[in-house]
Amino acid sequence: MPKRTLASLEGARLDGQRALTRVDFNVPIKDGRVTDSTRIHAALPTIRYLREKGARVILCSHLGRPKGGPDPRFSLQPVAHALEIELGAPVVFIPDPAAPGAVTITKRLPRGGVALLENSRFHPGEEANDPALARIYAGLGDLYVNDAFGSAHRAHATTEGVAHLIKPAVSGFLMERELKYLGEALSAPARPFVAILGGAKISGKIDLIEALLPKVDTIVIGGAMACTFFKAMGLETGTSLVEPDRVDMARALLQRSGGKIILPGGAVIAQELSGSAPTRSVARDAIPAGWAVYDIDEPSGEAFAAIVSGARTAIWNGPMGVFETPPFDRGTRRVAMAMAAAAKAGAVTVVGGGDSAAAVAEAGVADQMTHVSTGGGASLEFLEGKPLPGVLALDDMQGP
Ligand code: ADP
Ligand code: MG
Repeated sequence: MPKRTLASLEGARLDGQRALTRVDFNVPIKDGRVTDSTRIHAALPTIRYLREKGARVILCSHLGRPKGGPDPRFSLQPVAHALEIELGAPVVFIPDPAAPGAVTITKRLPRGGVALLENSRFHPGEEANDPALARIYAGLGDLYVNDAFGSAHRAHATTEGVAHLIKPAVSGFLMERELKYLGEALSAPARPFVAILGGAKISGKIDLIEALLPKVDTIVIGGAMACTFFKAMGLETGTSLVEPDRVDMARALLQRSGGKIILPGGAVIAQELSGSAPTRSVARDAIPAGWAVYDIDEPSGEAFAAIVSGARTAIWNGPMGVFETPPFDRGTRRVAMAMAAAAKAGAVTVVGGGDSAAAVAEAGVADQMTHVSTGGGASLEFLEGKPLPGVLALDDMQGP
C-alpha cells in the first residue's frame, strides 16, 4: 500500500499548522562545524515546501550515538547554524522537547518559521520507542512528516512511535523519492534486471542475495564478498578477507543460483593494503598464498560493465574493491561509469549503501544515476524486502 505523501495534503492542512518533521541531520561535525551538508541539502525540498505553504516547521533528528544522555559533542546546535545559512532564515533551537516552554515556542513560531529540536538520542526513550517520549514529541506538531528514510528501519520514538499519535502522518519528498525508486526497481523492474553486489562482508548481505535471487536476471558479485565464494569453489584465497563460517552458505547459494551469480574472473592483489604496495593482476585460480584480493581485475571490470550496459534496471550495493585506497578503486570506478552510461541509455540505475554512494560521488557520476539512496542500512533492509517500521507507521494513501 503506498503511503500518504506530503504533496497529497491540501494547502489548508498545512497553512498555520505545526509540522513535526523527522529529518536525517546525522551529519559529520568537526570543531562545532558541519563538514558535509549533503543530508541537510537532501531535506531542503520538504522544509522549503512546508514554509511556502505557511506551516510552522519543527524539525527533529538524531545525531551519532550519544551514550546515556545529553552530550555536547553530539549537539545539533551546529546544524541549526548551517540550516540558517541554507534557508536564509532564522532557526529557533529547542534544547529539550520535554521542557515546559517547548510547546509554547512551537506555537509562537511565525507561519513559515523553522525550529530545530536537540538530538533525539539525548533521551533514552528514543531508541526504546518509549510511548511517553513519543507523546512529548506529538505535543509539538499538528501533523507529522517523515523525511528521514535513513532512519526508517529503526522503530524509534521520533520515527515510529510518534507517527501513531499525530494525524496526518505523511512521507516527505525525500522519503517519497526513496520509496518510489527502490520500490519500483523491486516490484516492476524493466528487464534485464541486474544487481551488482560488493563490499566487505558476505555475512551482512546474505539476506540481500537471498531476496534478490528470485527477482533478478543476474547478480554480479565483487568486493571481498567474492573471496568467500572463491573459497567455496575450492580456490586459494591467500590472505584475502574471507569469512570461513560462510563458505558453506556461499557454496549452497552458488548451487541454487541457476547460473545467475557471476563472479570476477580475476583480481588485483597485493601483499599489504597500501597504495604504494606492489600489485599484481591474476586469474582467480592463481591467487598465491600471502597475497590478498583488493579489487576486481580489469577484464572483470570490463565484463561487469558489459553486463551493466545490457541491463534495463541495475541496482548496486557495495564497492568492488577497497576503493578508499587507490589503485584499488579502479573496479569500483569502472562499475560507476558503466552505471552512469546505462542510465544515459535509458536504464533505471539505483545505488544503495553508504560506501557505494560515496564511491559514486567520488567518481563524479552521482547526478547521472536515476537514484542514489541516502539511507545505507535502510536501503539494504528495504532491498531485502523487510518492512521499514518508520514507513509502515505512516498513513496509507487513502488515510483519514
Ligand atoms: P556499502 O556501505 O555500500 O553497503 P559495505 O559497507 O558493505 O558497502 O562495504 C564497503 C567496504 O568494503 C569498503 O570499506 C571497502 O574497503 C570494503 N571492501 C571492498 N572490497 C574489499 C576487499 N577485496 N577486501 C577488503 N575490503 C573490501
Ligand atoms: Mg558501509
